[in-house]
Amino acid sequence: MLSYSQALGVLRERIVPIRKMVRLPLEESMGHALAEPIIAPEPNPRFDNSAVDGYAIGSVEDSTEGMSLEIQGHIAAGGVFREAIRPHSVVRILTGAPVPAGTYGIAMQEDVVLDGNSVILRQSVPNRQFIRRQGSDFQAGEVLAPAGTVVDAGVSAQLAFVGVVRPSVFRQPLVSILTTGDEIVDPSQIPGPSQIRDTNSVMLQMQVLQTCGACPTVIRVADDRELFKETLSRTAGRSDLVIISGGASVGDKDFLDGIMRELGTVHFHGVSIRPGKPILFGQIGSCFVFGLPGNPASAYVCFEIFVREAIRRLAGWLTPEPRWVDCTIGFDHKACGREDFVRIRRDGPRVVEMGQQGSFGINSLATAHGLLMLSATEDRLVGSQERVLWLG
Ligand code: AMP
Ligand code: MG
Repeated sequence: MLSYSQALGVLRERIVPIRKMVRLPLEESMGHALAEPIIAPEPNPRFDNSAVDGYAIGSVEDSTEGMSLEIQGHIAAGGVFREAIRPHSVVRILTGAPVPAGTYGIAMQEDVVLDGNSVILRQSVPNRQFIRRQGSDFQAGEVLAPAGTVVDAGVSAQLAFVGVVRPSVFRQPLVSILTTGDEIVDPSQIPGPSQIRDTNSVMLQMQVLQTCGACPTVIRVADDRELFKETLSRTAGRSDLVIISGGASVGDKDFLDGIMRELGTVHFHGVSIRPGKPILFGQIGSCFVFGLPGNPASAYVCFEIFVREAIRRLAGWLTPEPRWVDCTIGFDHKACGREDFVRIRRDGPRVVEMGQQGSFGINSLATAHGLLMLSATEDRLVGSQERVLWLG
């Protein structure tokens, strides 16, 4: 059976980004990867401007503590001051206003005393104080973000600054969810004695939504081989990725493996991890397929450690890999022969294991801060450094 890193290797080898370019209004581009780099046509700041509300001073002689200087004029953000500052004078200046030509430095208004039409400096003003220099953030021609950068609030500020209101981005993958299980009823229904409500469909929908901002369709199928095969084939024909909940293991009604081999290819089936051992990854034509175990915690964890990266790869992200962070563990752990993904919470400088780690558990999914990855073969003691994937 493959290890987690071997299985990831297979996934990374198989999944090719879609890279179909679309232009979207800036406010609808969140979560999309940029198809082109953002290149600055102008520097930021665009011109030298004031960092404070205060007084612009013209020369070193006029910048010493105790100087009394006449107010020559005013300039606010959006204005222009066309004269040079005269000797023994200051120009009242507001934050963001272009500094008058020849400004030596700016005194903050809290550091002067107003005296009629003059100000008295309470302290000396160093050269260039409180001047935001043109280009001190970036210069014209600089690459602000390479292609593949994902649009978020920060990137949208760069796009707006350079005037790109319809960025070129890659289209998002079309994702569908297939939920299996004769025991599953809609969450709006009252389950019979041996039935349970479908928790995975909406959970996976939200995980996809959180990954790329697109809400996948959900199709619920009974445990009927022919019906399932036909539904999967049809759904794969109009999706880039199908996520299947349940039916991936080797129970009598778990026929996914056989059907996948009839319709397409199985890249791997079974990974030495806990939870999520029965996970299947394959392909029908150009559509990728994940078969996730039906237990909610398994489906959840498999999505976080495999499917999220797969969607990001399809969507053309520059860095689609999960971001692991080293953390100190606050408990002892016995190796179980499979790599363990433990739901944890942060507790001061350490992370602690949450109560129910069984794959049927739902409670911990709502409150876990992260997934801690632990070795399949080596025990771990309190205080050791391990990798955590932060959730949310
Ligand atoms: P399976 O992977 O189909 O063998 O299912 C494993 C376990 O997960 C069984 O106890 C199922 O009842 C449960 N399960 C399967 N699908 C869902 C679902 N959509 N929501 C909640 N539990 C599920
Ligand atoms: Mg089932």
